[in-house]
Amino acid sequence: MVKISTRGQLLKPSPTLKMAAKANDLKAQGHKVINFTVGEPDWTTFESAKKGGVNAIEKNFTKYTPASGYLDLKNKLSPFLSEELGVIRKPGNIALGPGAKYLIFASFQLILNSEDEVLIPSPYWVSYPTMVELSGGYPKIISTKEENKFKLTPHELETHITPKTKCLVLCSPNNPTGTFYTHEELLEIAKILKKHPNIWILSDDIYNRLLLSNIKSAPHILQVAPDLEERTICIGGASKSFAMTGWRIGWLSAPASLVTLVSDFLSQTTSNPSSISQMALHSVLDNFESELKIARETLKKRSLVIEQALSDSRLPISFVKPDGAFYYFIKISEFLNIKNSLGLNVTNSLEFAEDLLNKTYVATVAGSDFGQEGWLRISYAIPEAEIIEGIDKIRNFIFSISNKKT
Ligand code: PMP
Ligand code: GLU
Repeated sequence: MVKISTRGQLLKPSPTLKMAAKANDLKAQGHKVINFTVGEPDWTTFESAKKGGVNAIEKNFTKYTPASGYLDLKNKLSPFLSEELGVIRKPGNIALGPGAKYLIFASFQLILNSEDEVLIPSPYWVSYPTMVELSGGYPKIISTKEENKFKLTPHELETHITPKTKCLVLCSPNNPTGTFYTHEELLEIAKILKKHPNIWILSDDIYNRLLLSNIKSAPHILQVAPDLEERTICIGGASKSFAMTGWRIGWLSAPASLVTLVSDFLSQTTSNPSSISQMALHSVLDNFESELKIARETLKKRSLVIEQALSDSRLPISFVKPDGAFYYFIKISEFLNIKNSLGLNVTNSLEFAEDLLNKTYVATVAGSDFGQEGWLRISYAIPEAEIIEGIDKIRNFIFSISNKKT
């Protein structure tokens, strides 16, 4: 048998996408599945994006473009990002790519040498550690605390920095908790980073406009520490804010020298992101406010529904209160490892998520996949009735595995 590489042998699929695929398989078999897995909105792609895409096809804008996107689109993104980040982002600071995910991978490929350490506060988005490993680096996980809403503290950051530290990943609002760092918190983190000038900051801003409050975009480290600009890579995308997960279009903004490298990397690996998706993005950037407002109102309403369901007095389930994104991170540790009369004994979050899916057809993602045992992620961008039914089924499942009575 011809062998594959060690890297290939170690590779595992994205757990979020794996659980989503399982849920879809069960659905295809005819089961009624409540799908709290994959982080994507259930509302449709914004109208102006769809029109832009159709227009691209009709106008035959369907050929190669420059590898990191066409200039007019970068011109359009430039004021959008400058306003959001509080620093000037010229077209030369911007690269478009086939989704934020690939641009994060490209960044690690370009900044890491073998054994360089990347600090990743946990709970983290599932793909960061694997992307670091695929880039030859070492993901150094920093466990954060529930009482701090799982946000990295300056002390935790400082005590994990070593001469090998090359990058810090900041995801705000965070996946899987939905919390964002306030300006004050970012300022304290920036103070530590200023003492260590050789560390890159990868700021994953993919959820920064999907907020539960009325502010325009989430606080950003460059707003409080613009002098970190020369070593900050900002990642954004259309997937979440404009409901464009399938269009595969995202952006990176960074110092021009790094952006040139990213463009070269894209030119050698993917070529341009779809020309049709680029034009769709161009068009949605002109006209997204009213639909984004509706999306935020929908999330807000649903977040109230889910909080009420989780807090039900029959069996309240603790959760981290989010600021944005569409996730609730719920605590299940107290329901694990309990032997009940049926002998059922669920010992960890993965078993919990798998049993829950197999027995009740409610699909979630285990906290351990995000580096946090004893928790479960629920993506609540689904209809309210399903949220209520799904939480009820989770509660009944908990009753069945614990000694608690209904
Ligand atoms: N960052 C985070 C934190 C995410 O949850 C996701 C999930 N899609 C991405 C990046 C990647 O988004 P995209 O669809 O643009 O690749
Ligand atoms: N980011 C989303 C999630 O966390 C989409 C799936 C993925 O890319 O991992 O569910």
